[in-house]
Amino acid sequence: MYDYDLLVVGSANADLVIAVERRPGAGETVLGGDLAVHPGGKGANQAVAAARLGARTVLLARVGDDAHGRLLLESQRAAGVDTVGVLVGGAPTGVALITVDPSGDNSIVVSPGANGKLTPGDVRAAASLFQASKVVSTQLEIPLETVVEVVRNLSSESRFVLNPSPPRPLPSELLAACDPLIVNEHEAKVVLGESCVSDRPEDWARLLLAKGPRSVVVTLGAEGALVASADGVERVPSVKVDAVDTTGAGDAFTAALAFRLGAGASLAEAAGYAARVGAAAVTKEGAQVSFPTAEEVEAL
Ligand code: ADP
Repeated sequence: MYDYDLLVVGSANADLVIAVERRPGAGETVLGGDLAVHPGGKGANQAVAAARLGARTVLLARVGDDAHGRLLLESQRAAGVDTVGVLVGGAPTGVALITVDPSGDNSIVVSPGANGKLTPGDVRAAASLFQASKVVSTQLEIPLETVVEVVRNLSSESRFVLNPSPPRPLPSELLAACDPLIVNEHEAKVVLGESCVSDRPEDWARLLLAKGPRSVVVTLGAEGALVASADGVERVPSVKVDAVDTTGAGDAFTAALAFRLGAGASLAEAAGYAARVGAAAVTKEGAQVSFPTAEEVEAL
């Protein structure tokens, strides 16, 4: 019996957002609206999304000993995430400085801060969380060597899910552990690199599978997703909704997929559920505040 449905290992950031009429150029100062501070980072987002759906979720992450770190701890606890694995100190909390103009275009500067100090040693020290978790999910906003250490510490029966975002070429040891590797179009192209010889998502899925993962999911925004495994490639339809803000849709999708896989769903079933969760998330502004509960997914 596992204590947790999902262990998320990943980033936690404070998103500092200012609306501006025009984003500043070099050497320029512009006045903007009031500062909004939101909890974010792909790891923190995934953990909140899973907990909202009812998954028993624990987060392994690092934040600074500062107000942003406390904001992140608070938002995790409010969603029902166990924060026993959130380490504090070593650097300031990671921050994304975001300016957004009236057309919705933004400019973002990320300071990884404490996320960059989440080390392979921190992963080894959290061995009890790995033993207690059915599924482990990560992204790439923490050091790659830390993510590689995650797959070396998986318990023999737990399942590993990776969304390689921001994308980069991946070592074969990491690829081989993924079940599934979850990518959007941009991530698929970066991970495939020169072997991306086609414009068809079905081909990306097959080419990615040939790189070693046990399964692959390609997310296609409003077009839904594709799942691929030794059994073949299958399309997962999207749910028609009025999209308001797609921020965090991929994080919600990944968390939902990981949770349902742990509950015994097939890859196609889990992706179908995740597509509904992703669709629900795009109907509201923001990232974590837009993630649905299980009841809201049912109602969709
Ligand atoms: P990312 O945010 O990583 O780029 P996507 O935009 O592909 O990921 O979104 C993840 C999933 O969320 C999609 O596979 C789809 O199921 C759902 N989704 C995203 N945008 C929409 C939309 N406009 N309408 C319906 N579902 C959507």
